[in-house]
Amino acid sequence: MTATSSDIEKAAGVLRAGGLVALPTETVYGLGANAEDPAAVTRIFEVKGRPPTHPLIVHVAAAAQLDDWVAEVPPAARLLADRFWPGPLTLVLRRGTRVPLEATGGLETVAVRVPDHPVALALLSAFGGGVTAPSANRFGQVSPTTAANVRSELGGAVDFVLDGGPCEVGVESTIVDVTGEQPAILRPGGVTREDLAAVLGHPVAVPSTSGVRVPGQHPSHYAPRARVVLVEPKKILAEAELAQEDGCQVGVFLPPQLADAPVKAHAVVVLPESPAAYARGLYGFLRELDQQGCDLIVASLPPEEGLGLAIGNRLRRAAGPRAVT
Ligand code: AMP
Ligand code: MG
Repeated sequence: MTATSSDIEKAAGVLRAGGLVALPTETVYGLGANAEDPAAVTRIFEVKGRPPTHPLIVHVAAAAQLDDWVAEVPPAARLLADRFWPGPLTLVLRRGTRVPLEATGGLETVAVRVPDHPVALALLSAFGGGVTAPSANRFGQVSPTTAANVRSELGGAVDFVLDGGPCEVGVESTIVDVTGEQPAILRPGGVTREDLAAVLGHPVAVPSTSGVRVPGQHPSHYAPRARVVLVEPKKILAEAELAQEDGCQVGVFLPPQLADAPVKAHAVVVLPESPAAYARGLYGFLRELDQQGCDLIVASLPPEEGLGLAIGNRLRRAAGPRAVT
Protein backbone atom coordinates (compact mmCIF):
# COMPACT_ATOMS: atom_id res chain seq x y z
CA MET A 1 0.00 0.00 0.00
CA THR A 2 1.22 3.45 -0.88
CA ALA A 3 2.74 5.43 1.98
CA THR A 4 0.40 7.73 3.93
CA SER A 5 1.32 11.15 5.32
CA SER A 6 1.83 9.58 8.75
CA ASP A 7 4.25 7.08 7.16
CA ILE A 8 6.13 10.04 5.68
CA GLU A 9 6.34 11.75 9.08
CA LYS A 10 7.53 8.53 10.68
CA ALA A 11 10.17 8.00 7.97
CA ALA A 12 11.43 11.59 8.39
CA GLY A 13 11.75 10.91 12.12
CA VAL A 14 13.75 7.74 11.43
CA LEU A 15 16.15 9.75 9.25
CA ARG A 16 16.53 12.43 11.95
CA ALA A 17 17.31 9.71 14.49
CA GLY A 18 20.10 8.33 12.28
CA GLY A 19 18.14 5.38 10.90
CA LEU A 20 17.77 3.95 7.40
CA VAL A 21 14.64 4.36 5.27
CA ALA A 22 13.97 2.54 2.00
CA LEU A 23 12.21 4.96 -0.33
CA PRO A 24 10.57 4.70 -3.73
CA THR A 25 11.89 6.83 -6.57
CA GLU A 26 10.92 6.80 -10.25
CA THR A 27 14.12 4.88 -11.09
CA VAL A 28 14.56 2.15 -8.42
CA TYR A 29 14.04 1.94 -4.64
CA GLY A 30 16.77 3.64 -2.62
CA LEU A 31 18.26 2.92 0.79
CA GLY A 32 18.31 6.36 2.38
CA ALA A 33 20.08 8.03 5.29
CA ASN A 34 20.61 11.60 6.47
CA ALA A 35 23.39 12.79 4.14
CA GLU A 36 24.95 14.85 6.94
CA ASP A 37 25.15 11.99 9.45
CA PRO A 38 28.40 10.06 8.83
CA ALA A 39 27.38 7.16 11.13
CA ALA A 40 24.05 6.69 9.33
CA VAL A 41 25.77 6.92 5.95
CA THR A 42 28.32 4.31 7.07
CA ARG A 43 25.45 1.97 7.98
CA ILE A 44 24.23 2.07 4.36
CA PHE A 45 27.54 0.57 3.25
CA GLU A 46 27.35 -2.11 5.95
CA VAL A 47 23.78 -3.10 5.11
CA LYS A 48 24.51 -3.26 1.37
CA GLY A 49 27.88 -4.94 1.74
CA ARG A 50 29.15 -2.13 -0.47
CA PRO A 51 32.84 -1.12 -0.48
CA PRO A 52 33.18 2.25 1.34
CA THR A 53 34.95 3.83 -1.64
CA HIS A 54 31.79 3.73 -3.77
CA PRO A 55 30.06 7.12 -3.68
CA LEU A 56 26.35 7.65 -3.03
CA ILE A 57 23.83 10.05 -4.56
CA VAL A 58 22.49 12.92 -2.41
CA HIS A 59 18.75 13.34 -3.03
CA VAL A 60 17.19 16.75 -2.44
CA ALA A 61 13.62 18.11 -2.69
CA ALA A 62 14.17 20.82 -5.31
CA ALA A 63 16.69 22.19 -7.80
CA ALA A 64 16.87 25.37 -5.70
CA GLN A 65 18.73 23.34 -3.03
CA LEU A 66 21.57 22.31 -5.37
CA ASP A 67 23.77 25.22 -4.29
CA ASP A 68 23.59 24.05 -0.64
CA TRP A 69 25.44 20.82 -1.45
CA VAL A 70 28.10 21.74 -3.99
CA ALA A 71 31.06 24.11 -4.19
CA GLU A 72 29.94 25.64 -7.49
CA VAL A 73 27.30 25.19 -10.15
CA PRO A 74 28.67 25.51 -13.70
CA PRO A 75 26.22 26.84 -16.35
CA ALA A 76 25.76 23.40 -17.97
CA ALA A 77 24.75 21.93 -14.60
CA ARG A 78 22.19 24.69 -14.05
CA LEU A 79 20.78 24.09 -17.51
CA LEU A 80 20.46 20.34 -17.00
CA ALA A 81 19.00 20.69 -13.49
CA ASP A 82 16.40 23.22 -14.71
CA ARG A 83 15.39 21.02 -17.58
CA PHE A 84 15.46 17.50 -16.08
CA TRP A 85 14.69 17.86 -12.35
CA PRO A 86 12.76 16.31 -10.84
CA GLY A 87 13.84 13.36 -12.94
CA PRO A 88 16.24 10.45 -13.55
CA LEU A 89 19.36 12.60 -13.97
CA THR A 90 22.21 12.77 -11.45
CA LEU A 91 24.78 15.56 -11.64
CA VAL A 92 28.34 15.12 -10.35
CA LEU A 93 29.77 18.42 -9.07
CA ARG A 94 32.49 19.62 -6.74
CA ARG A 95 31.65 18.72 -3.16
CA GLY A 96 30.26 21.32 -0.78
CA THR A 97 31.50 21.29 2.83
CA ARG A 98 28.15 20.01 4.08
CA VAL A 99 28.70 16.65 2.43
CA PRO A 100 30.76 14.24 4.54
CA LEU A 101 33.45 12.24 2.75
CA GLU A 102 31.67 9.06 3.89
CA ALA A 103 28.91 9.90 1.38
CA THR A 104 31.28 10.56 -1.51
CA GLY A 105 33.51 7.53 -1.04
CA GLY A 106 36.34 9.94 -0.20
CA LEU A 107 35.95 11.90 -3.45
CA GLU A 108 36.00 15.69 -3.70
CA THR A 109 32.95 15.46 -5.97
CA VAL A 110 29.35 14.81 -5.00
CA ALA A 111 26.43 13.37 -6.96
CA VAL A 112 23.08 15.16 -6.55
CA ARG A 113 19.58 14.49 -7.85
CA VAL A 114 15.93 15.50 -7.37
CA PRO A 115 13.86 12.33 -7.78
CA ASP A 116 10.52 12.46 -9.60
CA HIS A 117 8.32 10.49 -7.22
CA PRO A 118 5.61 11.96 -4.97
CA VAL A 119 6.57 9.80 -1.96
CA ALA A 120 10.30 10.58 -2.28
CA LEU A 121 9.58 14.30 -2.67
CA ALA A 122 7.19 14.28 0.31
CA LEU A 123 9.85 12.58 2.44
CA LEU A 124 12.58 15.01 1.33
CA SER A 125 10.34 17.99 2.08
CA ALA A 126 9.27 16.64 5.48
CA PHE A 127 12.87 15.79 6.39
CA GLY A 128 14.24 19.06 5.06
CA GLY A 129 17.83 17.93 4.45
CA GLY A 130 19.55 15.75 1.89
CA VAL A 131 19.16 11.97 1.78
CA THR A 132 22.02 9.85 0.49
CA ALA A 133 20.72 6.72 -1.16
CA PRO A 134 22.13 3.98 -3.34
CA SER A 135 19.80 1.28 -4.64
CA ALA A 136 18.23 -0.74 -1.82
CA ASN A 137 19.83 -4.08 -2.67
CA ARG A 138 22.94 -6.01 -1.67
CA PHE A 139 26.03 -4.85 -3.53
CA GLY A 140 26.27 -6.14 -7.09
CA GLN A 141 22.77 -7.59 -7.27
CA VAL A 142 19.58 -6.73 -9.10
CA SER A 143 18.09 -3.37 -8.08
CA PRO A 144 14.65 -3.37 -6.38
CA THR A 145 11.70 -1.85 -8.26
CA THR A 146 9.00 -2.68 -5.68
CA ALA A 147 8.75 -2.39 -1.90
CA ALA A 148 8.37 -6.19 -1.76
CA ASN A 149 11.75 -6.56 -3.52
CA VAL A 150 13.33 -4.38 -0.82
CA ARG A 151 11.77 -6.35 2.02
CA SER A 152 12.80 -9.71 0.63
CA GLU A 153 16.35 -8.51 -0.04
CA LEU A 154 17.13 -6.34 3.01
CA GLY A 155 14.33 -7.26 5.44
CA GLY A 156 15.05 -6.25 9.02
CA ALA A 157 18.27 -4.42 8.14
CA VAL A 158 16.16 -1.37 7.14
CA ASP A 159 14.38 0.64 9.86
CA PHE A 160 11.42 1.66 7.70
CA VAL A 161 10.21 0.87 4.18
CA LEU A 162 8.07 3.43 2.34
CA ASP A 163 5.89 1.84 -0.33
CA GLY A 164 5.31 3.94 -3.43
CA GLY A 165 4.24 1.20 -5.82
CA PRO A 166 6.33 -0.14 -8.72
CA CYS A 167 8.98 2.21 -10.16
CA GLU A 168 7.98 3.91 -13.41
CA VAL A 169 11.39 4.20 -15.07
CA GLY A 170 12.87 0.96 -13.75
CA VAL A 171 16.58 1.62 -14.40
CA GLU A 172 18.86 3.93 -12.43
CA SER A 173 19.44 7.60 -13.19
CA THR A 174 21.78 8.85 -15.88
CA ILE A 175 24.91 10.16 -14.15
CA VAL A 176 26.51 13.19 -15.83
CA ASP A 177 29.84 14.58 -14.69
CA VAL A 178 29.73 18.36 -15.04
CA THR A 179 33.08 19.05 -13.36
CA GLY A 180 35.09 18.91 -16.61
CA GLU A 181 35.18 21.10 -19.72
CA GLN A 182 32.43 19.07 -21.36
CA PRO A 183 29.63 17.19 -19.58
CA ALA A 184 30.22 13.43 -19.82
CA ILE A 185 27.90 10.50 -19.14
CA LEU A 186 29.35 8.28 -16.40
CA ARG A 187 26.39 5.90 -16.37
CA PRO A 188 23.58 5.76 -18.93
CA GLY A 189 20.11 5.75 -17.38
CA GLY A 190 16.59 7.11 -17.45
CA VAL A 191 17.44 10.36 -19.29
CA THR A 192 18.71 9.50 -22.75
CA ARG A 193 21.91 10.71 -24.37
CA GLU A 194 19.74 12.18 -27.15
CA ASP A 195 17.71 14.23 -24.62
CA LEU A 196 20.91 15.54 -23.03
CA ALA A 197 22.38 16.50 -26.40
CA ALA A 198 19.17 18.32 -27.39
CA VAL A 199 19.30 20.48 -24.26
CA LEU A 200 23.06 21.09 -24.30
CA GLY A 201 23.17 21.73 -28.04
CA HIS A 202 26.00 19.27 -28.67
CA PRO A 203 26.64 15.51 -28.48
CA VAL A 204 27.58 14.09 -25.05
CA ALA A 205 30.40 11.59 -24.69
CA VAL A 206 30.03 8.28 -22.86
CA PRO A 207 33.64 7.61 -21.83
CA SER A 208 34.34 3.93 -21.26
CA THR A 209 36.76 4.71 -18.46
CA SER A 210 36.81 7.75 -16.27
CA GLY A 211 38.88 9.25 -13.50
CA VAL A 212 35.79 9.23 -11.33
CA ARG A 213 34.81 6.01 -9.65
CA VAL A 214 31.43 4.62 -10.67
CA PRO A 215 30.30 1.33 -9.13
CA GLY A 216 28.11 0.64 -12.14
CA GLN A 217 31.37 0.15 -14.04
CA HIS A 218 32.33 -2.94 -12.06
CA PRO A 219 32.48 -5.89 -14.45
CA SER A 220 29.66 -7.62 -12.55
CA HIS A 221 26.77 -5.52 -11.23
CA TYR A 222 22.98 -5.62 -11.45
CA ALA A 223 23.39 -9.42 -11.56
CA PRO A 224 20.71 -12.06 -10.95
CA ARG A 225 21.66 -15.42 -9.44
CA ALA A 226 21.46 -17.07 -12.85
CA ARG A 227 24.39 -16.58 -15.21
CA VAL A 228 23.58 -14.23 -18.10
CA VAL A 229 24.86 -14.75 -21.65
CA LEU A 230 24.39 -12.23 -24.44
CA VAL A 231 24.09 -13.43 -28.02
CA GLU A 232 22.92 -11.94 -31.33
CA PRO A 233 19.12 -11.85 -31.59
CA LYS A 234 19.11 -14.43 -34.40
CA LYS A 235 21.05 -16.90 -32.24
CA ILE A 236 18.84 -16.71 -29.16
CA LEU A 237 16.68 -19.75 -29.91
CA ALA A 238 19.59 -22.00 -30.89
CA GLU A 239 21.68 -20.92 -27.89
CA ALA A 240 18.78 -21.58 -25.49
CA GLU A 241 18.06 -25.01 -26.94
CA LEU A 242 21.71 -26.05 -26.83
CA ALA A 243 22.15 -25.02 -23.19
CA GLN A 244 18.84 -26.63 -22.21
CA GLU A 245 19.96 -29.91 -23.85
CA ASP A 246 23.23 -29.55 -21.92
CA GLY A 247 21.25 -29.76 -18.70
CA CYS A 248 20.92 -26.04 -17.88
CA GLN A 249 17.64 -24.57 -16.71
CA VAL A 250 17.48 -21.87 -19.35
CA GLY A 251 15.53 -18.64 -19.14
CA VAL A 252 15.09 -16.61 -22.31
CA PHE A 253 14.62 -12.88 -22.86
CA LEU A 254 12.61 -13.32 -26.06
CA PRO A 255 12.47 -10.33 -28.43
CA PRO A 256 8.85 -9.42 -29.29
CA GLN A 257 9.29 -10.30 -32.96
CA LEU A 258 10.00 -13.92 -31.88
CA ALA A 259 6.99 -14.07 -29.53
CA ASP A 260 5.36 -16.89 -31.49
CA ALA A 261 8.50 -18.92 -32.16
CA PRO A 262 8.78 -22.35 -30.50
CA VAL A 263 11.30 -22.02 -27.66
CA LYS A 264 13.08 -24.94 -26.02
CA ALA A 265 13.81 -23.52 -22.59
CA HIS A 266 12.80 -23.75 -18.94
CA ALA A 267 11.18 -20.29 -18.79
CA VAL A 268 10.54 -17.42 -21.17
CA VAL A 269 9.95 -13.68 -20.79
CA VAL A 270 8.54 -12.11 -23.95
CA LEU A 271 10.05 -8.63 -24.00
CA PRO A 272 7.79 -5.61 -24.49
CA GLU A 273 7.95 -3.66 -27.76
CA SER A 274 8.61 -0.29 -26.19
CA PRO A 275 12.04 0.52 -24.71
CA ALA A 276 10.32 2.33 -21.81
CA ALA A 277 8.36 -0.81 -20.91
CA TYR A 278 11.52 -2.93 -21.26
CA ALA A 279 13.44 -0.61 -18.92
CA ARG A 280 10.54 -0.58 -16.43
CA GLY A 281 10.37 -4.39 -16.44
CA LEU A 282 14.07 -5.27 -16.76
CA TYR A 283 14.94 -5.98 -13.11
CA GLY A 284 11.59 -7.69 -12.52
CA PHE A 285 12.23 -10.00 -15.48
CA LEU A 286 15.66 -10.97 -14.10
CA ARG A 287 14.15 -11.65 -10.66
CA GLU A 288 11.32 -13.66 -12.21
CA LEU A 289 13.68 -15.98 -14.08
CA ASP A 290 15.73 -16.44 -10.88
CA GLN A 291 12.55 -17.34 -9.02
CA GLN A 292 11.58 -19.87 -11.67
CA GLY A 293 14.85 -21.66 -10.97
CA CYS A 294 16.80 -20.70 -14.08
CA ASP A 295 20.56 -21.06 -13.86
CA LEU A 296 21.24 -19.44 -17.24
CA ILE A 297 19.56 -16.47 -18.91
CA VAL A 298 19.98 -15.99 -22.66
CA ALA A 299 19.41 -12.45 -23.92
CA SER A 300 20.61 -10.00 -26.56
CA LEU A 301 21.51 -6.32 -26.48
CA PRO A 302 18.91 -3.84 -27.72
CA PRO A 303 19.96 -1.14 -30.22
CA GLU A 304 22.12 1.45 -28.45
CA GLU A 305 19.73 4.37 -28.83
CA GLY A 306 17.33 6.01 -26.41
CA LEU A 307 16.76 3.86 -23.33
CA GLY A 308 18.46 0.97 -25.17
CA LEU A 309 21.80 2.43 -24.03
CA ALA A 310 20.89 2.03 -20.34
CA ILE A 311 19.25 -1.38 -20.83
CA GLY A 312 22.30 -2.63 -22.73
CA ASN A 313 24.63 -1.27 -20.03
CA ARG A 314 22.75 -3.16 -17.28
CA LEU A 315 22.62 -6.37 -19.34
CA ARG A 316 26.38 -6.20 -20.02
CA ARG A 317 27.09 -5.81 -16.29
CA ALA A 318 24.66 -8.58 -15.44
CA ALA A 319 26.59 -10.77 -17.90
CA GLY A 320 30.00 -9.57 -16.65
CA PRO A 321 32.59 -11.88 -15.12
CA ARG A 322 31.85 -12.61 -11.46
CA ALA A 323 34.20 -13.09 -8.56
CA VAL A 324 34.56 -16.78 -7.73
CA THR A 325 32.91 -17.42 -4.38
P1 AMP B 1 23.86 2.93 -6.90
O1 AMP B 1 23.69 2.72 -8.37
O2 AMP B 1 22.68 2.48 -6.19
O3 AMP B 1 25.10 2.32 -6.42
O4 AMP B 1 23.87 4.54 -6.67
C1 AMP B 1 24.98 5.35 -6.58
C2 AMP B 1 25.50 5.80 -7.89
O5 AMP B 1 25.90 7.16 -7.86
C3 AMP B 1 26.71 5.02 -8.26
O6 AMP B 1 26.64 4.51 -9.56
C4 AMP B 1 27.83 6.03 -8.11
O7 AMP B 1 28.87 5.81 -8.96
C5 AMP B 1 27.19 7.32 -8.42
N1 AMP B 1 27.96 8.41 -7.80
C6 AMP B 1 27.72 8.95 -6.61
N2 AMP B 1 28.63 9.91 -6.34
C7 AMP B 1 29.46 9.99 -7.38
C8 AMP B 1 30.61 10.80 -7.70
N3 AMP B 1 31.07 11.72 -6.87
N4 AMP B 1 31.22 10.57 -8.86
C9 AMP B 1 30.73 9.64 -9.70
N5 AMP B 1 29.67 8.86 -9.47
C10 AMP B 1 29.03 9.02 -8.33
MG1 MG C 1 23.01 -0.14 -7.24
